[in-house]
Amino acid sequence: MHISGSITPACEEKVRLLRRCAVAEAKCGYAIQNLTWRIGTLRAPNYAELQDLAEAAKKLVEDAWEAVERHTSEHGC
Ligand SMILES: [Zn+2]
Repeated sequence: MHISGSITPACEEKVRLLRRCAVAEAKCGYAIQNLTWRIGTLRAPNYAELQDLAEAAKKLVEDAWEAVERHTSEHGC
């Protein structure tokens, strides 16, 4: 998702939170890409570990967006 340039947030905190979303999304994308590349080349324990990382990264993205929504409703920005 591309958020930079399309949204002009009203406050610095929101800018910070949106940046965190972008970072989390990049990490998540990388983790999933890594997982996709390595399907079939990894043995089960390593694959499961990578899958856990990808899941954790997805969770980070969700949390980051939740923080933005929470901030938006609390701050009204
Ligand atoms: Zn705000």
